[in-house]
Amino acid sequence: MASATAVRPVVSALVAARAPLVVPSLAKAKFPADAPWAVRTPPLTEAQLLARYPHMIPGTLRRDPVANKNAVDIRCACGAVRIVYTSDLFHVRACRACKASGK
Ligand SMILES: [Zn+2]
Repeated sequence: MASATAVRPVVSALVAARAPLVVPSLAKAKFPADAPWAVRTPPLTEAQLLARYPHMIPGTLRRDPVANKNAVDIRCACGAVRIVYTSDLFHVRACRACKASGK
């Protein structure tokens, strides 16, 4: 088995031979605003939200000025009403009590 001291000179020779690492400056990087992935998708209308999330209560879409997010009320299967941000609608269907009880 080779000792660590025998291996080390080879490793340091490889490191020294490597060209200096060139890191492109993030500040210089240009992201075209018209690139497909740069275009922000507009928020869904209430009709679109209702079509996707039938547990949402119609007429409850509003802006939460504190969180700066859109919020709606949802109706849980138990009948309780819960406020949910539209960004969470896709994975929130139950009220807190039902979710905590594992239903
Ligand atoms: Zn519930």
